[in-house]
Amino acid sequence: MPLIGAHVDQDDPLAHARARNAEVVQFFLGDPKGWKAPVIGEKTREIKNSDVEVYVHAPYVINVATANNRVRIPSRKLLGAHLAAAAELGARGLIVHGGHVGAGDDPQKGFDNWRKVFERLEEHEVPVLIENTAGGGNAMARKLERVARLWDALDGFDVGFCLDTCHAHAGGEDLADVVERVMAITGRIDLIHCNDSRDAFDSGADRHASLGAGQIDPELILGVCRSANAPIVVETPFDGQAEDIAFLRTKL
Ligand SMILES: [Zn+2]
Repeated sequence: MPLIGAHVDQDDPLAHARARNAEVVQFFLGDPKGWKAPVIGEKTREIKNSDVEVYVHAPYVINVATANNRVRIPSRKLLGAHLAAAAELGARGLIVHGGHVGAGDDPQKGFDNWRKVFERLEEHEVPVLIENTAGGGNAMARKLERVARLWDALDGFDVGFCLDTCHAHAGGEDLADVVERVMAITGRIDLIHCNDSRDAFDSGADRHASLGAGQIDPELILGVCRSANAPIVVETPFDGQAEDIAFLRTKL
């Protein structure tokens, strides 16, 4: 049975883990929509010496793929700062969205920019896990054909992958065989973000729902979880997370 847990508030992750019966938690370090450096609160730090495994989610504002220097350069810096902070907590991974380039830009520019991130990154103990996204114009990691090009660009670097079921569904990737198709590209799935989707297949909308409350057949979600052989984190509405976790433990 894989480790199962939830994305929780950073104010007191250990208490939130206990309340949900989570073996693993993920949280932000600071404002996910802001550019401020990561902050580790005193309560947050308690998770380090607990039996609960930790993943850190990088802020949404990070876009290391973009051709816009005024976003790319601070993005790289914020990514580095989060890797250092995640290491302080003994995190198993830092999750970062694949990002996007401008509508008129050649996507290759974005793949090259990703490569530069790893060429310039200092030695880091916490692996970077790139997450597939639901939408984003000219996205790097919505469609798997783009993920394949990204992985070509990152050849030789130790890069992980986080597969989000809501994003795959809303991004237009069939969940029935998505694990196999991702594995053929990346050779690894480090983490599953297990979410239902409020929106239709290929809608491009990133709106998570509690398991069974959205538009994805629960059997498809379970199939992904069974075949991926990776820890599972639900990023569903907080009030239903205990149930989502219990559902997975019963059905997997
Ligand atoms: Zn996610």
